[in-house]
Formats: sequence, structure tokens, C-alpha cells
Amino acid sequence: MSDSGYPKIELHVHLEATIRPERLLEFGRRNDVKLPARSVAGLERFCRFSGFDRFIVVWVKTTSVLRRRSDFRRVVVDYAADLAAQGCFYAEPLFSPSEPVNRGTPWQEVFEGYCDGADEARELHGVELRFTPDITRNFPPEIGEQLAEWAVRYRERGVAGISLGGSEHRFPPAPFARAFAIAREGGLKAAPHAGETAGPASIRSALDDLHADRLRHGVRAVEDPVLLAELAERGIVCDVTPVSNLRTGVVRSLDEHPLPAMLAAGVRCSIGSDDPVLMQTSLTGDSDVAVRLGHTPRAMYEHALAGAFCDEPTRARLKAAGDTYDWGAAADT
Ligand SMILES: [Zn+2]
Repeated sequence: MSDSGYPKIELHVHLEATIRPERLLEFGRRNDVKLPARSVAGLERFCRFSGFDRFIVVWVKTTSVLRRRSDFRRVVVDYAADLAAQGCFYAEPLFSPSEPVNRGTPWQEVFEGYCDGADEARELHGVELRFTPDITRNFPPEIGEQLAEWAVRYRERGVAGISLGGSEHRFPPAPFARAFAIAREGGLKAAPHAGETAGPASIRSALDDLHADRLRHGVRAVEDPVLLAELAERGIVCDVTPVSNLRTGVVRSLDEHPLPAMLAAGVRCSIGSDDPVLMQTSLTGDSDVAVRLGHTPRAMYEHALAGAFCDEPTRARLKAAGDTYDWGAAADT
């Protein structure tokens, strides 16, 4: 059996999808929001995953319990404990403010709560976090532009970039170009979702219209060899989440996953869990799958570090942790 305790970096995880049913029920009670079930088992049944469109429904129903600054903070601290237990001390989680804002929670409440959580995660668990809030593409682009402005304001508190998420196959990236320009001018990086449920054209647009520094997924670049070569040549890191790709039907089986082809083409790939509770994934589980598909623990770490949006002192510290780790033991199976 492989030793999965090796150091990891998680660049593709949605905080709203890390909340355990017990905590969802607690938030629901406290905020007087009805959930589709009243027990842990009932919620687990409701969340059982079946396809991307159904996933969006589950997401909206369950995340509607998040209302207050203290809720957002709690989500981060809970998840940081999970990360530390998996050997991960640096992560760039996403969160999606458009939905709570649409339900009446002020932007500031959302950003303050998550950033408070990052401070506490560092103190309690030694986990360093940088956020890449996610523009929900199903909302009008103006909401995305507001998100970008708020993200820039929280740069000093740990927001390092922005993302674009939601129904990729229904809403292309180009209308969000202005939001990404606002973020870029404010010193933030870009790591949108592309090439998951939509094909190579979505990746092309993420690169050309949003000036993506990194891609969430990007796996469908394998359908276009020229594009794949460009990702390799430009050193665009793809944050690949094999098990979530299986759950959403992007791949029919893990054996057919594009990760080996991406690596063979020289594309650097970080490995992430995407939606741990909602899709029953974990950073350790996805990392194990990636190793089976030909990645190595050390390369996963180094590829992620190459794509990370952290400041240079943090990068140097993470690099030193990787350089001094005995990866030989991690590679033994
Ligand atoms: Zn994602």
C-alpha cells in the first residue's frame, strides 16, 4: 500500500462542497433555513451525486444555509483541519459569493467570514490559505464585476485570484472578460474553470479573453493537440480533479482519464478534490488515483507549487518543505 501522508497542495476545492451534513443542519437551524432533509442520513441521501445538473440543484439547496460571517469562517476552519490531516498545508480554495449575495448577505460579510477563517486556520492548524473566489457564470456578468472589485479589496487578507464556475456548457467565458480585467488590474491572478463540461473552445476563450494564469480542469485540451502543446509550452498549470470528472460524467471511467495524456504532453497538473463532501472525494483519494494514472507525489507537489498564486516567501517555504521531504518513501508501493 502506498503511504499517502506525503506533502500535498490543493488548488481546486470548493469550500461550499466541504461542509459535512452535521454542520449544514446546524447552520440551517441557526439561520432558520429549511434543508431538503432533517437528518444526517437524509441529507447524505439527498446529496448523493448523479450528474452535473443535479449537482447544481444540490449545491444551491445545501449552500443556502450559509448566511453569516461566522458561518463562512467555520466552514474554512473545519476544512483546514481536514487538509492538515491529509498532509496539506497550502491550499487555494474557491468560494462562490454570488449566491449568498443574491439571497441578501452583504459581500463584505462573505469576504470577512472566509478571510477570518483563513487567519484561524493558520493559527489552529498551520494551514496557509489563499482564496480564488468563483464568479458564478449563471448570474449576469455585472455581478462578476462586483465580485472582482470585492476580491481586489481583500487582496491583503488572502484573496490571490478569481475564478469562473457554474454551467460551463451554457455560459461561455467571454462576457466575463471585464471582471477578469478588473481583477488583473487590481493585482489578482486568474484560474477559471474551462475544458470540463465544455470543449477546447472554452479553454481557448479562458486563455484569450480572461487571460487565465491557470485552469481549473482543462482536461478537454486533449481533444486539441495544438492547444495541449500550447498549455505545455506556456507552463499553464491545470488543476485536475480525476474523481469529480468521473462523477460528472466528463470521463466514463478513470482508466480513460486524460491525465496521462496531459502529462505526456508536458502539461503541468496539480491534483485536487473539487467537491469533497458533495461528490465523496478527498485530496488523498484523488492523489492516489493520480498516482495510479502515472503522476508522482513529488511532481504533483511541484506542479501545484509552480501554479500557486502565493507570495514569494510562502513559495520559498513550500519549496523548502518539498525539497527536504523524503519522496522515496512516498513512491514505494
Ligand atoms: Zn471546480
